[in-house]
Amino acid sequence: MAEKMSLEERRAALQEIGDTIRQCRLCPLYSGRTHAVPGAGRVDAEIMFIGEAPGFHEDQQGLPFVGASGKYLDELLAKIGLKRDQVFITNVVKCRPPGNRDPQPDEIGTCVETYLKRQVELIRPKLIATLGRFSMALYFPPDARITRLHGQPKRANNRIYYPLFHPAAVLRNPNLRPAMEADFKRMPALLAELADLPGGDEPDEPPPPPKQLSLF
Ligand code: SF4
Repeated sequence: MAEKMSLEERRAALQEIGDTIRQCRLCPLYSGRTHAVPGAGRVDAEIMFIGEAPGFHEDQQGLPFVGASGKYLDELLAKIGLKRDQVFITNVVKCRPPGNRDPQPDEIGTCVETYLKRQVELIRPKLIATLGRFSMALYFPPDARITRLHGQPKRANNRIYYPLFHPAAVLRNPNLRPAMEADFKRMPALLAELADLPGGDEPDEPPPPPKQLSLF
C-alpha cells in the first residue's frame, strides 16, 4: 500500500507507471497517439489536477497541458502562488483521442482503472481538482452539471474533491473566466482546512463512466 512506501519508493513507482503508460496498448487510443502523456509534477503534491485527455500539443510533446490551456492553467496557478512543479497534473485518459473526440466510456474505464487510480494512491493528494466534465464524473454524480457544480468542494476520505471548468472551455467562453478565477482563489483556504492531515486516503471507487455526460 502506498501509505507504507517511502517517498523514494513512491517516486519510483510513479515513474514505472509512466514508463508503462508510454508502451500501453490496452485501449484503442494507443493507435493514434504520437506520445502517451502520463502526467507531470511532484509525487508528494498536495494538489492533483485531472483533465480530460491530451490534445494536439500534448500528444506531440508527451507532456500535459502545454498548449494554450496549459498557459492559462499556469496563470491560474500563479494567482494562488503556485507553479506547476508544485502540483501534479494528469488526465483521465493518457492518449489523445483522434480528432480530439470525446474519450469513450470503455477507454476511460480501462485507463482510470489501470493507471489513474494507482497514480492517486501514490501521490495521495489532499485536493483533487477535476478540470472539465469527464474527470468530474469520476467523483461526482454523472448527471451533475458543471455549470452548477463547479467550485463546490466535496469532502471525503480526508480529501477534498473540487470540480472546476476545463481551462479550454474557459478560453472558448470568456464569460466563464471570473468564475474560474474565483474557484481557483478558494483553493488555498480549502487546503488550509486539511493542513493537519497526512494526505488523502484511498479514493472512493470511481463510478463506471457514464454513457452520456451532461454538456453544461
Ligand atoms: S488511453 Fe490509457 S489505456 Fe488507452 S492506450 Fe493510452 S494509456 Fe493505455
